[in-house]
Amino acid sequence: MTRDRDPNCLFCRIVAGEIPSDQVFADDQLVAFRDITPRAPTHVLVVPREHIRSLAEVAESDAPIAGHLITATAEIARREGLAERGYRVVANVGRWGGQTVDHLHLHLMGGRSFTWPPG
Ligand code: AMP
Ligand code: ZN
Repeated sequence: MTRDRDPNCLFCRIVAGEIPSDQVFADDQLVAFRDITPRAPTHVLVVPREHIRSLAEVAESDAPIAGHLITATAEIARREGLAERGYRVVANVGRWGGQTVDHLHLHLMGGRSFTWPPG
């Protein structure tokens, strides 16, 4: 299933280059850029180009992009120098999950230690 781009979606607009971002990685399927309000020394958002609203909307047919999202996040973590000490990957889903932008993204955070469980 492919979803139409949402012209009102912040991350669709960043993916399209309409809104500037501090991009660290891009390929034909996803874009990664630095969070505008970083919660850790390294805080990157990894975003599929396709407008998938959240993890709750991911279907079995999305397995290729979902897998690529994870492998690309691990690769970006290596490039950012986070792999040796470790890092946190988060997907906020829906209101109770703390999601504020309704376009699927993984938070890649590192450069400090994290507590468990998150708040
Ligand atoms: P979430 O709350 O999980 O939906 O994450 C959305 C993230 O997008 C937050 O961490 C925001 O700081 C971040 N954000 C909002 N606007 C921008 C922007 N223009 N560029 C980069 N990151 C942004
Ligand atoms: Zn979108």
